[in-house]
Amino acid sequence: MDFEFKPEEQKVLDDVEAFIKAESTEEMLAETRVIGACYGGKLGREIIKKLASHGWLVPNWPAEYGGLGASAKLTFAIRDTIAYHGLPASFVAAHMAGPTIMHVGSEEMKKEWLLPIARGEVEFALGYTEPQAGSDLSSLNLRAVDEGDHFVLNGQKTFNTHSHVADYHWLACRTDPDAKKHKGVSMMIVDFKSPGIEVRPMITLADWQTNEVYYDNVIVPKKNLVGEKNKGFYYLMAALDFERMFPTGGYRRLFEDMVQYAKETVVGGQPLSKRPLVRQKLAQIATEMEVCKLLFYNLAYILDTGQIPNYQASMQKMFATETAQRLTKGCMEVLGLFAQIKTGSKHAPLAGRVEWMNRWSIVETIYAGTNEVQRNIIALRGLGLPAN
Ligand SMILES: Cc1cc2nc3c(=O)[nH]c(=O)nc-3n(C[C@H](O)[C@H](O)[C@H](O)COP(=O)(O)OP(=O)(O)OC[C@H]3O[C@@H](n4cnc5c(N)ncnc54)[C@H](O)[C@@H]3O)c2cc1C
Repeated sequence: MDFEFKPEEQKVLDDVEAFIKAESTEEMLAETRVIGACYGGKLGREIIKKLASHGWLVPNWPAEYGGLGASAKLTFAIRDTIAYHGLPASFVAAHMAGPTIMHVGSEEMKKEWLLPIARGEVEFALGYTEPQAGSDLSSLNLRAVDEGDHFVLNGQKTFNTHSHVADYHWLACRTDPDAKKHKGVSMMIVDFKSPGIEVRPMITLADWQTNEVYYDNVIVPKKNLVGEKNKGFYYLMAALDFERMFPTGGYRRLFEDMVQYAKETVVGGQPLSKRPLVRQKLAQIATEMEVCKLLFYNLAYILDTGQIPNYQASMQKMFATETAQRLTKGCMEVLGLFAQIKTGSKHAPLAGRVEWMNRWSIVETIYAGTNEVQRNIIALRGLGLPAN
C-alpha cells in the first residue's frame, strides 16, 4: 500500500483544504453540528453544492456521472478532510445509494439520479430499520403491493436519520411476503413529499434527530424500483459495505486540539502535558488513531485494486467507532470535571467539543450495524468460522 499522493492528487487535496477554509462559516458549522453532520441543512447544502461543482463530492465516479475518475485513496482523503473541518460528512445519496444505482440501476435510473447526486442537489435518507428489524434486517415488513405501473406502500420505519431534512427515502420494503425472508425485499426511491408519509422525530442522546417514518397508502411509481424486484436485500447488503467506511477526521481534529491544549495549559504549576497519566493516555490514543488511518486507507487500497471490501469494512467501522469512544473518554479524563461544561460557556475547554463528541461517539457503534454484528461478520467472512 502506497500512502504517498501523486503531485496532481496532492494539488486537489490542497485545493479542497483552501476551499473549505475560504467558504466555511461559524453558522454553517453550528447548523451541521445540530443535525448530526448529515447533509440537509440550508447552509450545509450551500457549501457542499459549491464543493460538488468541482467534482469533489464523488471524485471516484466517472466524469459522465459528475466525478473526476479519481482513485478511492484520493476520494477517502477528501472525505476525511471534509469531516476534519466539521462540514456535513454523512451523505446517503453520494456514498451509499449512488454507488448502488451505478451498479444495478437501469440506464434510465442512472440518467435521472447520478448527476443530481454528484452535484449535491438531492439527498436521501436510509430507510432500513423497523421496530422488529434492526440487526436482523431480513425481518422487515413495510409492505409494497405491486399495482401494475406503481406500488402502494404501508408500514413503519424507525431510526431513519436524515428523513426530516432529506428529499428522498432510500427504502427497503417487502414486495413478496411468501418468499424466504431475504428473497422478498426490494429497494425503492420514494419522494418524501408523497401524500401519506409522516415523519416523527426521535431525539438521540447526541442531541441530534433521527426519526420514525410512517407509510399510509403511499404511491410509488414503478420507475423508482432500484434494480430487480425482490433482489433488494442483496443490494442493501452491498450498500452497507459502502456505509461502513468511517472517516475519523472529526475525531482527529479534536485529538490534535487536545494535545495542543495539554501542552499549553498549566495546572498546579506545570503543563498538563508533563503529567505521566496524561502523556500515557495521549500516546495510547495517538497509536489507535494511526491504526484507524491504516484500516481506512486499506479499504481504499482494496477498491483501487479492483476488489470489493467485505469484512475489512466491518473491521474499520468497529475499530474506528470504538477508538472514537476511547478518544473522547480519554479527553474527558484529562480535562476532569471541566470536560462536562457545554458549548457556549466561557469555561468550556475546547469550546465544549469533548462533551458533545463523547455523546456522539456512543451512537456510532450502533448505526450501520452494531459492533457485535460487525464482529460476527469478521468471524464468519474473515475467519471462516461457522455462523452462530
Ligand atoms: C443514532 C442512530 C441512527 C440510526 N440511523 C439509521 C438510519 O438512518 N437508517 C436506518 O435504517 N437505521 C438507522 N439506525 C438503526 C440501526 O442500524 C439499528 O439500531 C441497529 O442496526 C441495531 O438494531 P436494533 O436497534 O433493532 O437492535 P437489535 O438488533 O435489537 O439489537 C439489540 C442488541 O443485540 C445485539 N445483537 C443483535 N443480534 C446479534 C447477533 N446476531 N449477535 C450478537 N449480538 C447481537 C446488538 O448488537 C444489540 O446490542 C440508527 C440507529 C441509531 C442508534
